[in-house]
Amino acid sequence: IADLINLKVFVANADKAIELEVAEKVCEKHGFRLEREKREKGAGVHKVEEVIVEPVAQIVEEVEEEKLELRAPIITFMGHVDHGKTSLLDAIRKTQVTHGEAGGITQHIGAYSVFHNDRPITFIDTPGHAAFSGMRARGANVTDIVVLIIAADDGIMPQTREALNHAKAADVQLMVAINKCDLPAANILRVKSQLQDIGLAPVDWGGDIEVMEVSAKTGLGIDNLLETMALQAEVLELKADPKAPARATVIESSMVPGRGPVATVICRQGTLKVGQAFICGPHWGKTKALMNDRGQPIKEVKPGMPVELVGFSDMPRVGDEVVIMDSERAVKKLSEERLEESRQAKLVTRRRVTMEDLFANIEEGQKKVFKVVLKTDVHGSLEAITKCLEEIESNKINLRILHSDVGPINESDVLLASGSDAVIIGFNQKVENKALTTARREGVQIKLYSIIYELIDQAKEAMTGMLDPLT
Ligand code: GDP
Repeated sequence: IADLINLKVFVANADKAIELEVAEKVCEKHGFRLEREKREKGAGVHKVEEVIVEPVAQIVEEVEEEKLELRAPIITFMGHVDHGKTSLLDAIRKTQVTHGEAGGITQHIGAYSVFHNDRPITFIDTPGHAAFSGMRARGANVTDIVVLIIAADDGIMPQTREALNHAKAADVQLMVAINKCDLPAANILRVKSQLQDIGLAPVDWGGDIEVMEVSAKTGLGIDNLLETMALQAEVLELKADPKAPARATVIESSMVPGRGPVATVICRQGTLKVGQAFICGPHWGKTKALMNDRGQPIKEVKPGMPVELVGFSDMPRVGDEVVIMDSERAVKKLSEERLEESRQAKLVTRRRVTMEDLFANIEEGQKKVFKVVLKTDVHGSLEAITKCLEEIESNKINLRILHSDVGPINESDVLLASGSDAVIIGFNQKVENKALTTARREGVQIKLYSIIYELIDQAKEAMTGMLDPLT
């Protein structure tokens, strides 16, 4: 009412209807986006319509098991800010220099490989779970192993939990490195017990999570960290066919004066060679030059290895796939088709998962998973809502809360939801501006509530097929 008075709209009580434009202004002031309301049975909650561009068709090939060979594992470091992700990546890079690797490592191209017992291990050098889930949102699951970095003096922090949930949602192998063990304030026991509390029991405590003690500063435990990664990679049996038509995923791209669009790609399959024609998203190209992470020109790259690639017709997007094809004519033709498709696709609207369509397309005898990212105002409501949601019984739908926390809905939440086809539920929370833009782009549904029973009722209806589909 106070807000309305400020807008020179006078209402007698809170039940009075107001003009749409007035409501819009009030919403804006509080960081909400107003969508035209379509009333559900029993609940007056706003639905959000999403508009996203359909991804262009992918080229699919069959994999022949007997042709597969071991490839380099791809590792991403995640964790709370300042816990030492960058320092550890640098420390690992340095081990190669001291081991006398030719050329030394001078280039920061977004990924690099080190050799441990003559086998390569690839690291993605762009730490941060937003980047990680951003790639997943584009359908690019590049990482095999996530190493959660936790500072020994600080322990598990909010972003550690956030990173963990991003990794869990991606279903990747997880390891933990307790960093800064050189500090007098290091308390390894405390960190291990915190890990145990969040379901990551260390191997030496009878659990199944490898927990390494390291120091990026002194180099303590770095060799052991590499060894453990190599062992985990062996267990995962990561393989690819080096003779198949090459495919690589873009993990970074930029415009370099004199060279045009340049991208760092990780080869996923086949052997990427100089002089090949390729398609990448709607753009085409020819591999004019390949440069390794030491800035040296190379002729070819094997699966699992990163390389800087020059020769794109236009800037590729992170997460797009470079696919080698037979001829330049073929890639140019496909590029034209894809550009045309994406121009048309812009006119087509498509929604990702919404609460309303949970029940759509469930096959007989199957169960669907309703994935949720939950953000609330205070811990009390977080616990209460989680408990109520988990108590909802449905014979068709299982609930999985990918991440829950207190705080506004941020971009990282949206990317997590997008990469995992989840719905974001906010309770007494606002959506950060950047998150709103990303949610629109990614087609992620955000449902905002301010009354607990409305939230629970609607979730119940959604999970039991009582919620009307969006029209
Ligand atoms: P990031 O935000 O996770 O990438 O963290 P950084 O690598 O930037 O490290 C944050 C700070 O912690 C820097 O000042 C580092 O010098 C320091 N740091 C990182 N690793 C260690 C370590 O093993 N021991 C000590 N004493 N300091 C470290």
